[in-house]
Amino acid sequence: MNDCLFCKIVAGQIPAAKVYEDDLVLAFNDIHPAAPTHMLIIPKEHFPSLQDIPQGKLPVIASLFAAAQKLAETTGIAKTGYRTLINTGPDSGQVVFHVHLHLLGGRKLGKLG
Ligand code: 5GP
Ligand code: ZN
Repeated sequence: MNDCLFCKIVAGQIPAAKVYEDDLVLAFNDIHPAAPTHMLIIPKEHFPSLQDIPQGKLPVIASLFAAAQKLAETTGIAKTGYRTLINTGPDSGQVVFHVHLHLLGGRKLGKLG
């Protein structure tokens, strides 16, 4: 996608602090971390939101969570706990329209409001 911020990160056109990469998935630190650990895990393929992923491509979501498990282990938050979330659409507050899984941890996280 031409004008997508996260596609540009995948293409190496915009820098990011990458923490994990495989064939399908890229992960990098959130630029405005909301917790001591705050990473974004994205599919390399562009989908604007979860709602736009066709049924046949939904396995990529499992890949995002597989990366989250690994990153939770390597960053030391697997034992203390963490939150994963995907914002989808206007009411969620989604601001970047390339689907991404937030991985947050490293402190007690408040209730979702
Ligand atoms: P959303 O609200 O769409 O679920 O979350 C978008 C996230 O992307 C926010 O947490 C925001 O801080 C992060 N973000 C926005 N622009 C950039 C950027 O250029 N680089 C990085 N690493 N994160 C970004
Ligand atoms: Zn994109």
